[in-house]
Amino acid sequence: MQIALVGIGKIARDQHIPALAASPDWQLAATVSQSGAGVDGVESFDDFAQMLAQRPQIKVVSLCMPPVPRFAYAQAALLAGRHVMLEKPPGATLAEVHALQALAAARGLSLYTTWHSRMALAVAQAKAWLADKQVLRGHISWREDVRKWHPGQDWVFEPGGMGVFDPGINALSILTEILPNPVHLTAATLTFPANRQTPIAADLYFSGGLTAAFDWRQLGPQTWDIEIDTDAGAMALRLGGNRLEINGVEVAGEASIMGEYPALYARMADLVARGQSDVDLAPMVHVADAMTLGRRLETEAFHF
Ligand code: NAP
Repeated sequence: MQIALVGIGKIARDQHIPALAASPDWQLAATVSQSGAGVDGVESFDDFAQMLAQRPQIKVVSLCMPPVPRFAYAQAALLAGRHVMLEKPPGATLAEVHALQALAAARGLSLYTTWHSRMALAVAQAKAWLADKQVLRGHISWREDVRKWHPGQDWVFEPGGMGVFDPGINALSILTEILPNPVHLTAATLTFPANRQTPIAADLYFSGGLTAAFDWRQLGPQTWDIEIDTDAGAMALRLGGNRLEINGVEVAGEASIMGEYPALYARMADLVARGQSDVDLAPMVHVADAMTLGRRLETEAFHF
C-alpha cells in the first residue's frame, strides 16, 4: 500500500522513515513538508491539499506533526477519503479526536491513534503477568532531559504541547494497557516554568495506590520505569517498557526501541485490511484530568 508521511521532523526521521523503508506492507509514496524537507527518491509536496488532490492512489496518510496543528490535517485527509494514522498524543483535545473518530466511522475509513510505547518489547508480557493478579500499589518514574529529546522544540511549552506529559503520556499509555482494572486520577501537582504555558514536572496520584512522577529536568541517566506490587509479587517495567523484571529478576527485553514503529505500521496495515479503526484515548484522559485537577507550582524560567 502506498502511504504519505506528513510533517518531516524529528520523529519522522528517527522512526517513521526507517520503519516504512523496512516494512513489507508499505511504500512511502509521498512526503508533505511545509519547510521543504523530504526523502531522497520520494515525491515531496509542500501543500497537503495538493497532495490529496493529485495522488488519489495514496490511500493512507501518517501524520507526524505536533498535536495542535494535526487535527486540521486529519480532518482534511478523512474528508478526502484517506485512512489516517496519528502520532501520539492523538490530538490537542479529547473532543477533536472524538470528532475524527466519528468522521472516520461515517466514511468507513480506518483511524489509528498510535501509542508507540505500548509496542515496547516487554509490555505484552507485563500485561499477561498482571492479568490474574491484584494490584496493591505502583509507581511510575519518568524522568528525562527535555533538551536532549526535544531540542529547541518550543511547541512543547505552548498550549496544547502538553509539556512533560508529552513523554509522560507514553508511561500512561503503558499503564492503561497493562493494568487488569482501570484507575482514575485523584490529585496532581504540576510545576510550570515561570515563562512557559505547560508543566516541566508533574506528580500524579491515582486510585488503587498508584502514583507517578514525571520530570523533564533529569540530566545524566534517563529513567522510564513502572513498578507495580501485587498480591503475588512485584514487577518492574524499565527502559520505557522494553525490560521486564519479576521479583527483581529480569525475565524479558532489551534496551532497544527500534521495534516499536515497525509494529505500529504492521498494525495500521492490518487495520486497513480489516476495515477497522483503533482509537483509545485512555492515556490522554489521565492527562486531561491532571490538567483539570492539578495544583499549580511555579519554578524558574526555562530556556533551551
Ligand atoms: P518536531 O520535529 O518539532 O515537528 C515535526 C514536524 O511537524 C516539523 O518538522 C514540521 O515538519 C511539522 N510541523 C511543525 N509545526 C507545524 C505546524 N504548525 N503545522 C504543520 N506542520 C508542522 O516534532 P517531533 O519531535 O517530530 O514530534 C512530533 C510528534 O511526534 C509529537 O506529537 C510527539 O509527541 C511525537 N513523538 C516525538 C518523539 C521525539 O522523540 N521527539 C518521539 C515519539 C513521538 P515540516 O517542516 O516537514 O512540515
